[in-house]
Amino acid sequence: MPTELPIIDPDKFHDECAVFGVYGHEEAANLTYLGLYALQHRGQEASGIVSGDGEQFFVQKGMGLVADIFHKSVLEKLPGHMAIGHNRYSTTGGNDLKNVQPLIVNFALGNLALAHNGNLINAQMLRHELEAYGAIFQSTSDSEVIIHLIAHSRADSFLARIIDALSQVRGAFSVVLMTDNGLIAARDPYGLRPLCIARLRSSWVVASETCAFDLLDAEYVREVEPGELIVITEQGLDSHHPFPKVNPAMCVFEYVYFARPDSRIFGANAVYGTRKALGRRLAQESGVPADVVIPVPDSGVPAALGYAEGGRIPFETGLIRNHYVGRTFIEPEQSIRHFGVKVKLNAVPEVLEGKRVVVVDDSLVRGTTSRKIVKMIRQAGAKEVHMRISSPPILSPCFYGIDTPTKKELIASDHSIEEIRKYITADSLAYLSIDGMLTSAPMASDQYCTACFTERYPIPFTRAEELQLGLFESGH
Ligand code: AMP
Ligand code: SF4
Repeated sequence: MPTELPIIDPDKFHDECAVFGVYGHEEAANLTYLGLYALQHRGQEASGIVSGDGEQFFVQKGMGLVADIFHKSVLEKLPGHMAIGHNRYSTTGGNDLKNVQPLIVNFALGNLALAHNGNLINAQMLRHELEAYGAIFQSTSDSEVIIHLIAHSRADSFLARIIDALSQVRGAFSVVLMTDNGLIAARDPYGLRPLCIARLRSSWVVASETCAFDLLDAEYVREVEPGELIVITEQGLDSHHPFPKVNPAMCVFEYVYFARPDSRIFGANAVYGTRKALGRRLAQESGVPADVVIPVPDSGVPAALGYAEGGRIPFETGLIRNHYVGRTFIEPEQSIRHFGVKVKLNAVPEVLEGKRVVVVDDSLVRGTTSRKIVKMIRQAGAKEVHMRISSPPILSPCFYGIDTPTKKELIASDHSIEEIRKYITADSLAYLSIDGMLTSAPMASDQYCTACFTERYPIPFTRAEELQLGLFESGH
């Protein structure tokens, strides 16, 4: 009965993460540290590394930034030829290290560690069922259901149990698992979150994004394909396709905002180039006479460059970012977030005074950042402020692992563009069209998930999930 279902806490969907793994290197933990360091932008609340020597697992975890947690003395406690790591953005569970991944267990078949990027839409349902069968959960992390499903599976090999478990979860997963024998990397059939493979001489490396390989001088091999499961052992790399094939739905928001611009994701080149193309297209669609184009740093920079190029307007740095403050949005407390915008950005009056300014940002979520930025630019003397957003209006939350607030907090979910313009006090406001976004991205448009912009979720919800996720009344 729907009324007996556990209520899904919207905070559960704040699950931006990075995963990383190395097999076959005597400095596996040190390399994992470097990989996580390069992937810091995907999660800044907590980090963990688990290493293994074939018999034993070693684990170190902490809250905060990678460089603050893994000092030399900590890394020395992580011997072995393989390791996996995780960076996490986490609101639920607070400072509880039990929620910090990789999660580790020791059971009948040996040691197992798991690092998960993504979000499972049926995790709470599965947890409810597993608990009814007597499973005792150690954390409040949704990813732990994968561990319990593996432990409860009747299949005889570790690999068969992992396939069995991953076949039962629905949603987004790019996972890296470690057993005493090696690593397993898998991507959900839709390929929602990225995951790629590289070689470092005779070792194998897997990471959420290729910027992690660049730091190690590892050579990019390829993407883990949507629905592919890769086993890396002494014998080398083995590929499986155990899940029913579906049309891919890779997260277009990785291109818009989330991935690092120097990474290649989803097998295609250059996040940077795509962001610039988004800006160029935006200038075509909603050009406005102006004296200067400025980005909201850092994520708005490539799109603003594209806009300036497309609109033939000089590009300037009109806002300076303090790099020693974390991403404002990623701070879990509302009060810190509001405070953060002011701490993070400051205007450059000599660029803005008396000018008609186009300010480009990659996305507009609640509208709080834009509102403060417009005010700041005006206070610095701008004559006109035109806000341009290099993605379409965000109408609905992401249930696949990108941190978006609930629907009612998304300003575009129940306000017209004109109402939003008034709220942010800009002289004009324009977003990129859906078509503009999809034609600027490298692959065919039917390969992407666009659900937060279109409300077309690629993974069908059950009626119970619709109720749980609060989608029922709005008829999705
Ligand atoms: P808001 O003030 O809520 O409209 O937030 C908009 C700002 O948040 C933009 O500058 C974006 O670059 C940034 N942003 C958008 N999505 C995310 C996200 N999932 N995590 C962190 N920052 C984000
Ligand atoms: Fe990406 Fe949006 Fe789809 Fe989430 S809903 S996976 S953010 S495109």
